[in-house]
Amino acid sequence: MARTVTLPASLDEAVAALSAMPAAVPVAGGTDLMASVNSGLLRPAGLIGLGRVNELRGWQYQDGHALLGACLTHARMGRPDFAALIPGLAAAARAAGPPQVRNAGTLGGNIVTAAPTGDALPVLAALEATVLLLGPEGAREVPVSHLLTGMDPLRPGELLTHVRVPLLHAPQTFLKATGRTGPGRATASVCVVLDPARRGVRCAVGAVAPMPLRPLEAEAWVASLVDWDGERKLDPEACTAFGEYVAEACIPAPAPDDGSAESGTLSAAVVHLRRTVAALARRALGRALA
Ligand SMILES: Cc1cc2nc3c(=O)[nH]c(=O)nc-3n(C[C@H](O)[C@H](O)[C@H](O)COP(=O)(O)OP(=O)(O)OC[C@H]3O[C@@H](n4cnc5c(N)ncnc54)[C@H](O)[C@@H]3O)c2cc1C
Repeated sequence: MARTVTLPASLDEAVAALSAMPAAVPVAGGTDLMASVNSGLLRPAGLIGLGRVNELRGWQYQDGHALLGACLTHARMGRPDFAALIPGLAAAARAAGPPQVRNAGTLGGNIVTAAPTGDALPVLAALEATVLLLGPEGAREVPVSHLLTGMDPLRPGELLTHVRVPLLHAPQTFLKATGRTGPGRATASVCVVLDPARRGVRCAVGAVAPMPLRPLEAEAWVASLVDWDGERKLDPEACTAFGEYVAEACIPAPAPDDGSAESGTLSAAVVHLRRTVAALARRALGRALA
């Protein structure tokens, strides 16, 4: 078990504690971290609890964006006032595990764990959110996608302090499929975000790859069909075609066995996953445009 537990009362104290003990790990809700400790996968030299750092809770408005504290819990993000602000993230938060997990688990922990099944991740990818990081060498801001792909990872001693999300004032949907009834990890998830100011439809697919995937061509194609100055309605056939476009883009056919240009036969698992993603994307788009 950890040899020391530090409970800083401010962000500066938390960064100082982490700098003083680089082998220690920050803990927010502990729903991911303690599972690793309990299973023996992780033996941290120390724990730095973030629960008393008020700067990491709540959110504020800044230049058309919301600046979300890393320690916002899923339960808090699922409430109606938050849903009015960022409906996609609220829907993902409501779907993230059973109530005990939603009460403790945080946005920052979801991002830093970066599990493929992290429900907040496709939403943040579709929203093109950025994360604010603070460490011994100062503050920096990186796109969440760079953090998730490992292009720009968290550096030693750095804390994720906030997530900057653009406020789009338009419908956003998040849907997830699980392999069981009741709360469960996603086998696939889809977020669709409308961006009327840029006449854009943004979509991200979660759980089918190590990080959320953006089907950019499908997004551009469907955005060109939407009547942005009118009712913003689409034929059901166009929604179905969008779903299939997204699924094929995010779940490619396996490479052929013989090295020829022809793609190999799809396994039953791939066919099933494509159908699931296509249905989620079709419904998510239909609901966003409804
Ligand atoms: C039973 C169960 C069901 C679950 N179901 C779901 C689900 O359906 N969907 C889903 O998305 N997740 C699910 N989870 C996973 C988990 O609840 C989430 O990923 C949660 O958001 C993690 O947040 P946390 O605050 O508990 O993170 P912690 O466990 O406290 O930390 C996780 C990691 O992030 C680091 N960290 C935390 N905060 C910071 C910070 N501010 N700066 C730097 N590093 C930080 C920690 O050091 C650790 O490495 C489930 C977990 C359990 C146990």
